[in-house]
This record gives sequence, structure tokens and C-alpha cells, in this order.
Amino acid sequence: MSTLLESYAAGGWFRAADEGQPLLDAATGEEVARISSRGLDLAAMVGYARDTGGPALRSLTFHERASALKALAKHLMAGKDEFYALSVRTGATVRDTAVDVDGGIGTLFSFASKGTRELPNDTIVLDGSLERLGKTGAFVGQHIWTSRPGVAVQINAFNFPVWGMLEKLAPAFLAGLPTIVKPASQTAYLTELVVRRIIESGLLPEGSLQLISGSAGSLLDELTMQDSVAFTGSAHTAGILRRHPGVIDGGVRLGVEADSLNCSILGPDVRTEDPEFDLFIKGVVAEMTVKAGQKCTAIRRVIVPSRIAGQVEDALAARLAKITVGDPRNAEVRMGALASLGQRDEVRKAVEALRASSEIIVGDPYGGTLLDGDAERGAFLTPLLLRAAKGAVEPHNVEPFGPVSTVITYDGVDEAVALAARGKGSLVASVVTHDPDVARSVVLGLAPWHGRVLLLDRDDAKESTGHGSPLPMLVHGGPGRAGGGEELGGIRAVLHHMQRTAVQASPDLLTAVTGQWTTGAAQRVEEIHPFRKSLAELRIGDTVKSATRTVTLADIEHFAEFTGDTFYAHTDAEAAARNPLFGGIVAHGYLVVSLAAGLFVEPSPGPVLANYGVDNLRFLTPVKADDTIAVTLTVKQIKPRNSADYGEVRWDAVVTNQDGAPVATYDVLTLVAKN
Ligand code: NDP
Repeated sequence: MSTLLESYAAGGWFRAADEGQPLLDAATGEEVARISSRGLDLAAMVGYARDTGGPALRSLTFHERASALKALAKHLMAGKDEFYALSVRTGATVRDTAVDVDGGIGTLFSFASKGTRELPNDTIVLDGSLERLGKTGAFVGQHIWTSRPGVAVQINAFNFPVWGMLEKLAPAFLAGLPTIVKPASQTAYLTELVVRRIIESGLLPEGSLQLISGSAGSLLDELTMQDSVAFTGSAHTAGILRRHPGVIDGGVRLGVEADSLNCSILGPDVRTEDPEFDLFIKGVVAEMTVKAGQKCTAIRRVIVPSRIAGQVEDALAARLAKITVGDPRNAEVRMGALASLGQRDEVRKAVEALRASSEIIVGDPYGGTLLDGDAERGAFLTPLLLRAAKGAVEPHNVEPFGPVSTVITYDGVDEAVALAARGKGSLVASVVTHDPDVARSVVLGLAPWHGRVLLLDRDDAKESTGHGSPLPMLVHGGPGRAGGGEELGGIRAVLHHMQRTAVQASPDLLTAVTGQWTTGAAQRVEEIHPFRKSLAELRIGDTVKSATRTVTLADIEHFAEFTGDTFYAHTDAEAAARNPLFGGIVAHGYLVVSLAAGLFVEPSPGPVLANYGVDNLRFLTPVKADDTIAVTLTVKQIKPRNSADYGEVRWDAVVTNQDGAPVATYDVLTLVAKN
């Protein structure tokens, strides 16, 4: 008998006492493994996540979590051959496996990098800017994001056993939330193997990842308002989860990514001889055949201008004829098997439903030629292209989760948009056009119905990642039928797991809470210039109050001549007098900023290594000849870099004039040595 998959629960591997259900190789029908979660203590898993995994994760900063993810990504990448070898049993070709395995590991890398670059080396994130709530500035408000002391349950579909897990794990992990992953049973042997390698590596804090192999049973009963469920799968199961009392009344957050009838629209401008025509055909065929069409983003509806529909059908038929179908172990095979015979039955049923209003123009759901493989025991299905009758309803309602697409014709851009919208909300649409007017009107029409829109033309085609690839930095999810959930999208996905809270306080207490100096909070002026202090010595609130400097007309003229910025407001007294904002010659904003640098700098070699930019620069009051300016520079934020012997220091800079009015405000960004 083959192995019984185990669950990783509460710090150890759990093996069910029964024999479990057999999981069959998609192409050969041989048993790969068995699965059962009978006897698994789900309450103990949730407790372990809350009491062990969560605290361990939240004791790390975002940067520390990000480096754990990076180390994990490297580790998995180094051992990926083993995943490829097992993945073939899911029916996947090498190309399909790359999407799942490399795509999943790539997502880890991407979140690791974003976590380091876009999140602070801290455990909270500030949201938006400071709000002054009182007259004097003694009462201010700031939104902050904090980690929730809960658990992230992730229920995945069978089609991406690796990517599905990693794309949900990475953002939850960064957010400080421990994960319990529940892969779809059909392909859980691959997820189990990857989890085994993750646990063995010891790279993630204990308790931050647990695995359920088999049914989720009563897992949702254990969840409360700090917990969340991210689900990918069928609308039917999504409906069951939505109706769970924990979700309806208990405040458990549920994110759903379910069925989606994605479309690709060929623009009305495209002629058969245009490069866009070929791009369109290639895109549709790729989406029909990668993963044998078992992708939530696959193109189910091919929406084309009626005048060109015949040529589109012919071109699709010709290209589909080249798709060899069979056992994915054969390198000549372009498209492997569906995940199971059960899935093939489901697709055949969906095709029968589509036939109520569409005719099959390419392929045979019960026949078709295989290059290799057992047509009875393997879940093979050759690609099927249908043509919808005008006004057909089914193509907009029925999701055949396999290599199946339907051609639907339109006349005029409005009809194309209306047809796309009949999918009632989808993950992704592509529009293949080279016409800027078509691009704008179609994208604006599609956007409310879609989570992502790809505009494809001759200019972006070479670099395009394609219709079907969700990217870590872009949101994945769609409204309506697609579930209404949102995953990925860079740091958005991390914040999605966190709680936003508005904090109202005095500037000093707010500084204590956020670890970032707040306007109005105490400033410490000491004899030693802060540029003489290393990162270890600098403190939030350390301040330089500069001497003053009078800006003369000669300064302004010199700067104009020296830089070549002879804009009339700095050089032509008569013209400047007519300027409604200035009423006379004013100093260049960059002169003011340069003079301010001259006022606050401490010039000798020391721990400050570089000035790498300014943020949020605003010129507030014009500086006229003979105005006297001064600058106050305060340490606002200190971010040591884990991977370097220096860190970033953000300084609050305020330049004022002789009346105390703010002339310019900005943040100065420097790199400062740790010691
Ligand atoms: P399911 O909805 O049946 O299963 C998805 C996941 O939910 C699996 O992990 C499954 O576990 C789990 N699950 C099932 N019932 C429950 C429950 N009551 N409580 C908690 N978890 C549960 O979808 P499938 O993966 O079987 O796919 C079926 C169909 O869903 C496809 O044919 C396709 O139409 C659609 N689908 C859509 C996707 C999309 O993103 N658009 C992606 C994948 C599928 P187990 O496997 O152990 O039952």
C-alpha cells in the first residue's frame, strides 16, 4: 500500500489511524498516496498556532520575517527537483509545474523583498499621515496597523498545490499570523512534501505553519474574530463557508476566490495581418492548455468582433491542432491530464450544459487523439472550442474547469463590455488592441467587473507575463462570482491580515507608541551634533537647531547663473512683480533647501555615510531677498538594516523665516553607520 499522508499539527507529524482515501495519479490511475485526517485534534492545532506560532512570529520584526521567507525560498529552490518529480503525478507537464513550483517560490522571494523594502524594521506599520486634531497641535491622530493574535486558515484548490499554499502563506507570515494550511485532497501529496521540507529546514518559527492532510472537519468551529479563512475553490464550498456561524456571527474574516469566467476581448481595430491578431490567438490557446485549462484565471470566453470571428476560429483551430495531449512524463506532450477522472466528468458535464446554446467546433469531449497515455485510466481531455449562438446564456454562467473556451461575437465596443460583464465578476480580462481609444473605453468598462485587466499589444507583448499569471505585486481576486476576495498585491496582502486602528494622543505619547518622532513631540538639542552620533547612539527626537542665514539678491542671482535656472520669478523683477503668488523676485526653492543643508550639516568625516534623498518636499512660503532663514532637523525614524553595517535615518526638516513661518518642510534620508 502507498503511504498515508500525515498532518503537521501542534509541533509533530500526525498519522490517522484509518487507511485513508486513495489518491490516484492523474495520468495512469495508479495510487500515489492515501489521505485521512481522522482523529486530528483541530482545536489543539488552533491553540498551538495562537499560543506558540503567533507569539514566536510577532517577536520578529517585519525585516526578520522577510529574511526567514527569503531563506526559505532559497532552500525550496535548491530542492525543487523532488517537487517536479512528484508534480507529474498531478497530471502536470514540466511547463505546468514551473507555474506551480517556481511560481510559488518566486512569490516567497517577492514578498521577502517587499517586506524588507516597503515595511519598517518594526512590528507596526503607520498608515497615512499625522492628523492634527486640535488648535495647538497638542492632540493628534495617526492610523496604525498591528498584527492580530489569531490564526490564518488557508484552504486551497487542487490545481496549484505549491503556489496556492505559498502565495497565501507569505503575506500572512509577514503580517505575523500563523498559518494552518488545508490543501485540496486530490493533490495534497505534493503540498505535504513541500511542508515536510519546510518543517525540516527549521527556517520558520515553530507553530507558524501547520498542515491538515485530509478533511478540514470542524476546523471553522474553532475560529473566532481574530482569525481568518482564505479560500480558493468552488462557489459551492465557498457558499458553505459563508454560511458558517463563525463567519456570519462570529466575526471570522473570510476571503473567497471561487469560480471565474474570464474573457479575452479582441479589439475592433485588429485586422488578421496585425501582430495583435497572433498575440490574441496565442494567448487564448496558452490559457486553454496550460495546466490543462485548470486555472482560475483561464480564458473561458473568447469575445471577438463578428466580422472577424471566422478567421479567429480558424486560427485557434490550427493552433490547437498542434497541442499534443498525453502522459506528462513524455517530453513531447504539450498538455497533460486533468487532476482526476472525477474532474474530467465535471468538465464533460459543464460542456454538455454549454451545448444548450453553443456548438463544439474543435475537439470531442469523449474522444480525441492522445500522443501517449491510457484514455480510460488517465484523466485526459483534448482541447475543446465552442461557438456560442447569439444571445447564449450558458457561456456566461457555466465554468468548465478544463481546456475549454467558447467564442462569442460582438458588434461595437459597448457590446463587448456588456458581454464581459455578463460573467458577473471575474478575476482577469485581457484586451488585445493597439488603439488608445479602444483601450481606455474598454478598460474603464471592464474595471468594475474585474480584479485585473491585461492590455496586450505589439509593444508590451515581449515582456508581458500573460493573461493567466497572478503576480505577487498585483492584486489577485475579483468581484461577484469570482468571490469578492483579494489576495497578493504586494504589501496590500500583508495589511489585509492586520488591524488598522486610529490612535489619538499627544505628540509625545504617539511618538512612544509608533517609535517615530511626531511633530510637536519633545526635541533634544545636545552639545554633540547628531551627525557625530552612530546609529547605536542616535535617539528619536535628537535635534539640530541651526544658526540663521540671510538670503540676499546676490545669492539668488548667483544661484540662477550657476545652475542655469533663470526662471523669471528669480531673475526678472518686472515680470516677477506681475506673478500673482510672488509679487516680486523670490529665491529658488532648491536654493533654500541647499542653504538649509549648509546650515544643518556637520562637515567632517563621521558616521553619516550618505544622503540618499528627500521625501515629501513642500515649499510653503516664498523666500524674498533679505529674508532670514533657519532650519530645525530632528531624528524622526531609525531603521537599522539587518544585512548591512549601516541603517537608514529619516530626519524631519523644517525651514522657517524671520517670522517663524514655515518656508519648506521635508524629510531628509541618510545612511548612518551602526557603530
Ligand atoms: P472544492 O471547493 O471542492 O474544494 C476546494 C477546497 O475546499 C479543498 O481544499 C477542499 O478540500 C476544501 N473543502 C471542501 N469542502 C469543505 C468544507 N466543507 N469545509 C472546508 N473545506 C472544504 O473545489 P475543488 O478544488 O474540488 O474544485 C472543484 C471546482 O471548483 C473546480 O472544478 C472548479 O470549477 C472550481 N475551482 C475554481 C477555482 C478558481 O479559483 N476559480 C480553483 C479551483 C477550483 P478537499 O479537497 O479535501 O475536499
